[in-house]
Amino acid sequence: MLKRIAILGSTGSIGKNALRVIDSLNSLLVTRDSSLEREKTRYEIVALTAHSNVELLAEQARRYKPRFVAVTDADYVEQLRKLTGGLDVEILGGPGSLIEIAELEGVDVVLTAVVGAAGLGAVLAAAKKGKTLAIANKEPFVIAGELLTKTAKENSAQLLPVDSEHSAIFQAMQSGRREEVNKIILTSSGGPFRKMSIEEIQNVTLEQALSHPVWDMGTKITVDSATMMNKALEIIEAHWLFDMAVDKIEVLIHPESIVHSLVEFVDGSVIAQLGRPDMCLPIQYALTYPERVAGIGERLRLEEIGKLTFEKPNFETFRALSLGFEVARTGGTAAVVFNAANEAAVQEFLAGKIKFVRIVELIEHCLNKHNVKISVTLEELLEADAWARKEVLELAYSV
Ligand code: NAD
Ligand code: MG
Repeated sequence: MLKRIAILGSTGSIGKNALRVIDSLNSLLVTRDSSLEREKTRYEIVALTAHSNVELLAEQARRYKPRFVAVTDADYVEQLRKLTGGLDVEILGGPGSLIEIAELEGVDVVLTAVVGAAGLGAVLAAAKKGKTLAIANKEPFVIAGELLTKTAKENSAQLLPVDSEHSAIFQAMQSGRREEVNKIILTSSGGPFRKMSIEEIQNVTLEQALSHPVWDMGTKITVDSATMMNKALEIIEAHWLFDMAVDKIEVLIHPESIVHSLVEFVDGSVIAQLGRPDMCLPIQYALTYPERVAGIGERLRLEEIGKLTFEKPNFETFRALSLGFEVARTGGTAAVVFNAANEAAVQEFLAGKIKFVRIVELIEHCLNKHNVKISVTLEELLEADAWARKEVLELAYSV
């Protein structure tokens, strides 16, 4: 069998890991495991995209020989053309190029690994075309979960989670029927500021926020992990991906990040998925699903880890978590504003312009000021998104 893949955001943390996973999957063709009596699947990379890192994109193009490469920041198209000179590859440019790639006839699986709401158009386009989506890019599911899950259903597009917690839930859910699930428990490492009080967190630096204790990820999601906005976004992501009532979603702090999430069934049985904190595993599962093949990551040795600990989250210090639950219950444009305000505030924080604690304050200001609309069109979603981004900048710099 052949799976033809497009990786949206191949130069990022998830994108680079996905290429490593695909290398490994294709190498299994050579070192064939004869105990698995089934036809081997070959993974062909048809398209790769980046926002501006054209050097790495060109290097990937030389190595993987995709038919298409796209750079979403159109200013870099000429540079990419020069860097890929001599290669038989079609070059696309501008934000719309992600959609063109997501719609390509010759693509079966779209791995969405771009960061932020910018991936929405492409995710929607891939769902409309009935593609299999391996979803790392959670923000589109936060802002347009209802529309995306509905579109996927109508067009028989398969939605496969890559986010480690959602992959864990997806795997654990296979232990029973959907109606037998009582609740889901999302785990969280707690981030770098887990043990801090509200007072201590006031003066943390950008450098501290970017030093995640467990995971090595892109800068935006690393900051989201420090504020716990990442978990808040994941509550909403889980709500839509698993059609799970918000009251049936819980969050548990688990600093070792070995238990990636859990599902409790009606009989009281709790099924968890465990593994080392390495994104290669959930990426691989989304690509090989419904099969499992040898993985590249180091094996889990619980005797080396010794103990696994769990604690309740601190909703006071990490206000983002309470807001996440509230927003998930409210629905409509609340989630759009929640996400867009975060994206805008994190950008200002990364640029060194605002303090860490301002991020969640600005988000809350926007939520308080916003008149939520419940049943919304795509245009209204985008309008709320643009409003929140503008509002954050106005609030951040008004004295
Ligand atoms: P990253 O910053 O490392 O990479 C982002 C990728 O998207 C890059 O290839 C970049 O070129 C591209 N990109 C950036 N801005 C873009 C834009 N405006 N339009 C189009 N492309 C753009 O991010 P990451 O850590 O790989 O995360 C990617 C997504 O996966 C995020 O939504 C994140 O929440 C999710 N995720 C990441 C991890 C992880 O371990 N890194 C785990 C779970 C979920
Ligand atoms: Mg996650």
